[in-house]
Amino acid sequence: MALNFNKAEFVRSAGTPKDFLRDGLPQFAFAGRSNVGKSSVINRLVGRKNMAYVGASPGKTTHINYFKIDQRAYLVDLPGYGYAKVSQAEKERWAKLMETYFQQESESITTGVLIVDIRHKPTANDLTMHDWFRQSGCPEIIVANKLDKLKKREIEPAIALIRETLELTDEDVLIPFSAEKGDGKDELIRVLMNACE
Ligand code: GDP
Repeated sequence: MALNFNKAEFVRSAGTPKDFLRDGLPQFAFAGRSNVGKSSVINRLVGRKNMAYVGASPGKTTHINYFKIDQRAYLVDLPGYGYAKVSQAEKERWAKLMETYFQQESESITTGVLIVDIRHKPTANDLTMHDWFRQSGCPEIIVANKLDKLKKREIEPAIALIRETLELTDEDVLIPFSAEKGDGKDELIRVLMNACE
């Protein structure tokens, strides 16, 4: 299915499960810890500077944002995690929201996109999110962002560390990505479109 990611529009921000969208359209769920560049990756995908808000006060975004792509799928921006200064209450709210999203939406989540920082070993929170995607049974794509920050010779070992930490198999897709430069964009779009077929 050809999907024009440039035709993207914001539809809803859900702070509680009653606002979740469940209309049968495929959902691409994007997750990542605060500051990993999730907003930048989304903006790069849809070819806009500011669709997902970059640099929104970290940790305050405990909402799930839905963007409709080409009238045929949703890009779901899950709230970032792992920001140290977040209160316990906010953390709990986040966990509850995510838990319900994964429980209720497991049939609609077509593909999970887990964004990690290519320079670092995935964190404990990344692993938790990775487990949630796995348990939901949806295919998962790992996007290793900030590729432009590595030297050429550093790339391969960095990818190996991420693959090893997340226990990926050869079939699991990992896309080195740079929201800044655009590397990986076409591949990510291709993989997401394949998931809808
Ligand atoms: P979010 O909190 O995950 O939504 O992260 P943001 O999209 O707000 O990005 C956090 C910071 O990382 C910002 O200063 C971005 O400009 C920067 N950033 C995001 N992606 C990249 C990338 O691919 N390369 C570089 N060099 N910086 C990036």
